[in-house]
Amino acid sequence: MFVTSGGEGFVVMTGSPVEWVQDRPAQSVRTCIGCRQREPSADLLRIVAQHRNSDVAIVPDPRRRQPGRGAWLHPVSVCLRSAERRRAFGRALRVSGNLDISALEQYLENRHEHS
Ligand SMILES: [Zn+2]
Repeated sequence: MFVTSGGEGFVVMTGSPVEWVQDRPAQSVRTCIGCRQREPSADLLRIVAQHRNSDVAIVPDPRRRQPGRGAWLHPVSVCLRSAERRRAFGRALRVSGNLDISALEQYLENRHEHS
């Protein structure tokens, strides 16, 4: 896929927009909160916020079963770091305060080891 730099969208130079839409089956596209690339949700990890007393834990939801608001992230540490740096977790999940992302870090580390 050809991706333009800078913007949030991308341009695919193949025929008419109508054809392009029809060529793609119903597939939800989500934006990674780390790098802001749009991807099929199958390629992204869903994350949710879990309130624990005064803290909020950001936890992975690989089965996508957790209720509530979710956000999407490439399951790689690069995107985790940029999301953290830009405070994207709080914004995407509508939470504030002390965000604990250690569960998410651990998940990505383990995932990396086994891949
Ligand atoms: Zn990403």
